[in-house]
Amino acid sequence: MGNLLSRLKTLYFGLEYLLDLNKTLNHVLTRASAPPGLPVPNPTPSYWLEDPPFPDLVHLQSPTLPSRADIVIIGSGITGAAVARSILQECLRKGQTRQIVVLEARTLCSGATGRNRGHMKASPQELFADMRGRHGEERAAATTRFQLVHVGVLTRLCRQEGWEAVERREVTTADLFLDDEGREKRMEEVEELRRWVPELRMDVLGAEEAREKFGVNDYVQGAISYPTGALWPYRLVSSAWNDLLTKFLKSISLEMVTPVLSIYPSSTEGYAYEVVTTRGTIHCDHVVHATNAFASHVLGHMTAQHPGTRFPNFDGRLSWSVIYEKAYDYVTQRPMTTYGMPGDIMLGGGFNRGRDQGLDHIGRWDDSQPRWGDDREGWRVKKAWVGCIAFTGDGMPFVGRLDPELTGWRPGRKSTGNGVEPGDEREDLPDAPGRLPGKVVDWFPAELKPSLERVKRADLSNLVKYAP
Ligand SMILES: Cc1cc2nc3c(=O)[nH]c(=O)nc-3n(C[C@H](O)[C@H](O)[C@H](O)COP(=O)(O)OP(=O)(O)OC[C@H]3O[C@@H](n4cnc5c(N)ncnc54)[C@H](O)[C@@H]3O)c2cc1C
Repeated sequence: MGNLLSRLKTLYFGLEYLLDLNKTLNHVLTRASAPPGLPVPNPTPSYWLEDPPFPDLVHLQSPTLPSRADIVIIGSGITGAAVARSILQECLRKGQTRQIVVLEARTLCSGATGRNRGHMKASPQELFADMRGRHGEERAAATTRFQLVHVGVLTRLCRQEGWEAVERREVTTADLFLDDEGREKRMEEVEELRRWVPELRMDVLGAEEAREKFGVNDYVQGAISYPTGALWPYRLVSSAWNDLLTKFLKSISLEMVTPVLSIYPSSTEGYAYEVVTTRGTIHCDHVVHATNAFASHVLGHMTAQHPGTRFPNFDGRLSWSVIYEKAYDYVTQRPMTTYGMPGDIMLGGGFNRGRDQGLDHIGRWDDSQPRWGDDREGWRVKKAWVGCIAFTGDGMPFVGRLDPELTGWRPGRKSTGNGVEPGDEREDLPDAPGRLPGKVVDWFPAELKPSLERVKRADLSNLVKYAP
């Protein structure tokens, strides 16, 4: 009898635990699926935003908000800058002019791009394993190659444009495994990836070798290592904006501290949409959402720290991901200072160390709360900040034209035709810094397009299904 009672009790507690877990998960999904609202006006000050190379751009606004534009881009991070640059350069090549207005809720590039880790790292074995399950080996290999090519494209862009302030550098990254299970899983993924993307140089190291090569401690059970890159993301993007303002002054205006409140089909002849902001309304033909906000959000934590005297000094050419259980922390280091001091360490991660194994961070879009307090003079942490990381239910970004059924907006009265028609993806494009040459269809993975079916499939609840 006692035995039966104790079993019933165990069963009861087990059920209670599962119900609690289910309640927490539902709560998180509801929070993460709710509209994020506007970016908060007072985000935690990020290390990268200090000492901006173009201080005049930080709060840049026209005296009066333009009332008309061909294209409105919402968001001044890396996506907004890349879109504006591509459009203006294509217009130049084709001898056309288009008016672009960029609307940013806060200061220049103060979203995730100004708050991240500055790592150009792909985790190719993980991407390949994830894509392979859903799309097969060939598409997985094509998408992995697309992701890997970014380091070279950005490197060439910075070099050709002479953007020295970006602090771009080639880095060897080391994924360090703290447990056997994680190591075995990743090693199998690496083996498979090698078969399909053989040109990628990837070293597999045992515990001893990893300790010797990367100066790590005895907790490390093994590592994989491959070439990546790192840079100062805010400086990359603000250099790009500065360049566009210099070269295309008459075609672009940057409107900082101008949150977009809503978008409607236009009632004005000749325009498709009305974009309503806190400073007035703009009539336009196209709206580009570079807001990082169609998907849901999770808070990522970052700190910038002075390295201790025993921290190995690789002059910014090595980065580390420490992989344990189902989570990881990541570290990059800036190059040596001009005074010969080791560069600052940028440390982020710790996701599943948060409340409810990190679930508490999901669906948060307030990046104004460092949850740390002020630091004391002379302490090792120089700066601690948070940023919103957007993610989708299938782990891939949405890139492309949105179906009106998704936005709920059909273009209003017919436009004059001055808008930009979608480029022909089969056109053979010339080589240009910041972009791959050739036909877009040949290098852009169609899996990233936000088709109606994909957006429905990429519902956040599917994250559980796609979880590693
Ligand atoms: C802590 C952290 C660490 C990361 N580490 C890395 C890394 O090492 N490597 C890497 O590749 N990626 C990393 N990421 C992810 C990377 O930073 C993002 O994927 C990338 O910056 C997204 O760029 P974006 O231009 O799309 O968005 P953002 O840079 O977020 O820009 C979106 C902009 O839109 C504005 N906006 C939003 N809504 C409105 C509105 N209604 N009106 C007007 N403006 C609006 C925001 O204010 C913001 O400035 C990290 C992210 C975080 C938060």
